[in-house]
Amino acid sequence: MKKMVITVAVCGAETSKKDNPNLPVTPEEIAESTYNSYLKGASICHLHVRDKDGRATMDINIFQKAVELIRKKCDIVIEVTTGGGVGMSPEERLEVVSLKPEMASLDCGTVNFGNEYIVNTLPIMRQFAKEMKRQNVKPTLECFDLSHVYSANLLVKEGLIEPPYHYSFVLNVPGAAKYDVETLGFFVRRLPESTCWTVIGIGGKAALEAHYGALALGGFMRVGFEDNIYFDKGILAESNAQLVERAAKISKAAGYSVATPADVREMFKLKN
Ligand code: ZN
Repeated sequence: MKKMVITVAVCGAETSKKDNPNLPVTPEEIAESTYNSYLKGASICHLHVRDKDGRATMDINIFQKAVELIRKKCDIVIEVTTGGGVGMSPEERLEVVSLKPEMASLDCGTVNFGNEYIVNTLPIMRQFAKEMKRQNVKPTLECFDLSHVYSANLLVKEGLIEPPYHYSFVLNVPGAAKYDVETLGFFVRRLPESTCWTVIGIGGKAALEAHYGALALGGFMRVGFEDNIYFDKGILAESNAQLVERAAKISKAAGYSVATPADVREMFKLKN
C-alpha cells in the first residue's frame, strides 16, 4: 500500500492570534497542537517558534524548549525552519541546525513574500546545505518558484545534498508562483531521481487543492496554520489536528495508508 506523509506546520512566522485565535504560539501550545496533529496522522512537524509577544523568532532556547516538550509527548519527526521570518540574517536563521534536528527546511531562492521579500543567494544556500550535511540534518529543499527548482538541482549536482532528496513546493505565496496542477506538474518533471516531494498551497482554496495535486502526481501533503487558517470558505479552522484529519481522510479514500514517523525515518534515511 502506498504511504502518504503528512507534515503539519502548526504556526509559521506570519500568522497571529488575531487572524485565528486557535493559533498555537507558546512552546506549550505548539507541543500540544503538534501532539494532537500526530494523533490524527501527521508524521513530520515543521517547526517555527514565537517570542513572548507572539512574534517570529529564531531564539535557539525557545526552539530547544519546544523540541523537548514535543519529544516528551511523541516521536513525530521534527523539521525546523531555517527560513525564519522576513528580514532575518542568514546566520540568525541557521543557528537552530546546531540542535541537530532530524530535518530542516532550506529555502532555495529569493522570493517576493507579499510586499516583503526573502533573500537566498546561491552562496547562502550552499552555506546552509554544507552545515546541514555536517550536522546530519536532512534538508527539505523549499521551492517557491520554478527557478528555485533549478537552484536546488544545482545543490544536488554539486554533491551538497545526499539522496534521497526531499523537495517541497510552496505555491501561492503572493508575488510568487500560483498553485495549479499544471504548474505543479511542470515543477515535478524537473526533479532529479531519488526524490520525494511535498506540495503546499498557501491559503484555504490552494491548500485543499494541493492535496489532490499531491495524489494526482505522487507527492506528499502539508497542512497547518502556517499555510492556511481556514477549514472552509470563511470558516476558521478549529485546530491543526482538524486539517491533518481531513488530509488523512482524503489520502485513505484514495487508497493510501498514512505514514508513521518510523516510515518517514526509513523513507528519508534520517540520521539524527
Ligand atoms: Zn515555515
